[in-house]
Amino acid sequence: MQDLRIRKVVIVGGGTAGWMAAAGMSKLLPANQVAFRVVESEAIGTVGVGEATIPHILYFNRLLGIDENEFVRKTNATFKTGIEFVNWGRLGQSYIHPFGPYGAPMDGIHFHHFWLRYAAMGKAPPLERYSLMIQAARAAKFQRPDPSKVNTALSLIAYAFHFDASLYARLMREHAEARGVTRTEGRITNVVQDPHSGHVQNVVLETGEVIEGDLFIDCSGFRGLLIEQTLKAGYDDWSHYLPCDRAVARACEKVADPIPYTRATAKASGWQWRIPLQSRTGNGHVYSSAHISDDAALDSLNADLDGAPLTEPNFLRFTAGIRKSPWTKNVVSLGLASGFLEPLESTSIHLIQTAIARLMTNFPDKTFNQPDIDYYNRRTRLEYEQVRDFIILHYNATARDDSPFWNYCRTMEIPQTLADRLAIYRENARQYRHDNELFNEVSWLAVMQGQNIEPKRYHPIADMISEEELVRRMTHFEDDVTRSLATMPGHQAFIDQHCRSA
Ligand code: FAD
Repeated sequence: MQDLRIRKVVIVGGGTAGWMAAAGMSKLLPANQVAFRVVESEAIGTVGVGEATIPHILYFNRLLGIDENEFVRKTNATFKTGIEFVNWGRLGQSYIHPFGPYGAPMDGIHFHHFWLRYAAMGKAPPLERYSLMIQAARAAKFQRPDPSKVNTALSLIAYAFHFDASLYARLMREHAEARGVTRTEGRITNVVQDPHSGHVQNVVLETGEVIEGDLFIDCSGFRGLLIEQTLKAGYDDWSHYLPCDRAVARACEKVADPIPYTRATAKASGWQWRIPLQSRTGNGHVYSSAHISDDAALDSLNADLDGAPLTEPNFLRFTAGIRKSPWTKNVVSLGLASGFLEPLESTSIHLIQTAIARLMTNFPDKTFNQPDIDYYNRRTRLEYEQVRDFIILHYNATARDDSPFWNYCRTMEIPQTLADRLAIYRENARQYRHDNELFNEVSWLAVMQGQNIEPKRYHPIADMISEEELVRRMTHFEDDVTRSLATMPGHQAFIDQHCRSA
């Protein structure tokens, strides 16, 4: 019988996507069965940003068998319990989108319905008082979850990391090479396709070296060397929903102990991130070139740095959207080669991780069965669309009218999927999680509530308990957060105790 198994996988690109793919795939597929080769060009370099993550990265690190304290040490990482959004709903307002819950579900319905009833009684403190992750962020405290503290907020702690992207890629490379992945340095100058099937047969380096493969993973960044320049997969442009198309990034020196959350501050024509690492602070201004020039964007970034700059400005251009078919023929694109959603909710590295998992689930043989490929592409698109809608929400749910940029975002047409979700929440506060999507009801609630979307009513089941019982339960949740917070160490103290070299 013909051997249809994939034997040679060529990963084009050695940025975060390329090395995550190499580390993840070589962990799951034995080296004596499949040969992995990463081709990267130091002269071209990597995008050089991408430092804030969401909790799911813990699973990826665990899959690779990475010791977390060592990981934090090796990548200059800090812990992260959420993202603070400043000036989004209105100038002068701030809220935190937390990892982990507010309170806990009661009688099978979401906590916030009870909080809304409590608020209608005129008794409720702000929603954020019921989130340990928000309170810990604001108090610069951190610890990992404590499963022994059953039924307390301490058992439900959720977190992610900020890390140095180049050190993370290096760590991924160490893991990949330890599993037999080989690396070739050099610029690819030619891509050769099979004349009949159009499949990529090999890539040719500047040196003339020819590298053959059965399956090619395109991690070549925005240029999409195989998926777009060769296979012309096409791109769905979402910039009418997400008009920011540029960023300027620069690191600055650390001036204080790192805070355990990312900050995203809305500006006149975009927003600015602040990502605290152990060694330095990452900053970047994401902006719409239709509304502000590069020079003015840099001036605006520089004006809001809280330490001396350590690097020259790194200007980047992008278009929000997704490849029409991220997997085309025998090429699967990952990372920036497959699409781009701005880093407002720190989702890009996560989208690399889920794409790797999906590729492993749908791992092909040499027949490259088209229905499998179609399934992969449908799932990928759905995931991107769900994240896209969540990011659009931040721009659209605003009262800001202080610049042409905000006037556009506030009044723009939004996808029907998002419009439906908003209509439901405004009417009866319900949050339905679609198809196991990445952002759950807590995330949607945090942003809707944080950006002043007020529902007309709450779930009728919240009325089923007596007023006394409601007050008792709400007081219990609030006290639990206060008590739990009091026992938590400071974020820097936690790093010093657990993640420093012996
Ligand atoms: P790249 O880093 O661009 O790597 C491309 C690789 O391909 C390089 O190794 C290059 O040498 C190689 N290559 C290209 N052409 C050739 C060739 N011809 N021959 C040989 N090699 C070649 N994500 C997050 O999760 N959190 C964030 O906070 C975040 N912030 C971001 C901020 C901005 C402004 C941007 C633009 C992105 C951000 N991202 C973030 C996304 C994140 O940076 C990327 O998802 C991640 O770095 C993966 O990039 P990549 O590996 O796909 O591409």
